[in-house]
Amino acid sequence: MRLLVTGGAGFIGSHYVRTMLGGGYRGYENAEITVLDKLTYAGSVGNVPADHPRLTFVHGDVCDRELLAGVLPGHDAVVHFAAESHVDRSVEFSDPFVTTNVVGTQALLDSCLRAGVQRFVHISTDEVYGSIDEGTWTEESALLPNSPYAASKAAGDLLVRAFHQTHGLHTTITRCSNNYGPYQFPEKVIPLFVTNLLEGRDVPLYGDGLNVREWVHVDDHCRAVQLVLESGRPGAVYNIGGTAALTNRRLTEMLLKLCGAGWDRVTPVEDRKGHDRRYAMDDTRIREELGYRPLRPFERGLAETVRWYRDNSEWWRSGRPQAVGPRAALG
Ligand code: NAD
Repeated sequence: MRLLVTGGAGFIGSHYVRTMLGGGYRGYENAEITVLDKLTYAGSVGNVPADHPRLTFVHGDVCDRELLAGVLPGHDAVVHFAAESHVDRSVEFSDPFVTTNVVGTQALLDSCLRAGVQRFVHISTDEVYGSIDEGTWTEESALLPNSPYAASKAAGDLLVRAFHQTHGLHTTITRCSNNYGPYQFPEKVIPLFVTNLLEGRDVPLYGDGLNVREWVHVDDHCRAVQLVLESGRPGAVYNIGGTAALTNRRLTEMLLKLCGAGWDRVTPVEDRKGHDRRYAMDDTRIREELGYRPLRPFERGLAETVRWYRDNSEWWRSGRPQAVGPRAALG
């Protein structure tokens, strides 16, 4: 089995690659992986074991069709994680989101057809559904994205669907809730807050802090992706829900406690434009069809994650983000 993993140097993609190379997915202990990654600010080759005998690292862009024509032949499947992924950045400047998440996805789909690559797993997000005040989204819910990031992901999802419907490509789409865990770039809320607190800085809380997000450990998300790769139905979409639904305020309280800090370290900041109020997923399909269960309880996973950032400060100190959005003003 030969897999091409795009965005394999980022947070979630690198977890998937490290787990597979470490023998974490039964039946894939001998799989060969090609990581294709542009190494934007969010990716680092140090996130994967670059000298592993079953790993080939290709530094390149998913929009580069000539490169794709050279790299793709001989691969059995593509797992497409590569994306511009930070909502705040998309509010500031949406061009790279459309380029990578839409045009890049189209280039990859087209190149898979030409190269005869049979399977395409597209990693998407719950944000394509918009915001929901009560109840949950199923895979049949309307796509009503609110941020440029979410819109670009939804557009990618529609192209994936079209390549299945039109060309019969064996595609699957996963839509996961918010991920947390080690190696997440410290611009997203959990690593940003933890690293700020560990450095003695304040943490910026958007608006009233009552926006609700579901959280899933990156290891559970990657296991779900692997199940979809192995047994997902052609053309199907699979929601992947969280193990905890929390307001940002409650999450902040938990992080403060884990870092030994008090509420005096919180600075309220003006809300993000178009900030979705609540996300909530119904993931019955992946549970019933593929037997998926999340295994990491949130409290334990969060404590382990804080410990990881405490123990690996050289990793995040070397890659501190450029300021984007009001949160970063305090970072
Ligand atoms: P990330 O920003 O940490 O990593 C993205 C990776 O893609 C980086 O290594 C980057 O260098 C690479 N990349 C960006 N543009 C590229 C291009 N044009 N060509 C090749 N490589 C490129 O993102 P992440 O949090 O690991 O998210 C991975 C995927 O999962 C994304 O598709 C995202 O939409 C989706 N997702 C993320 C979350 C979350 O909570 N982080 C939740 C649900 C879905």
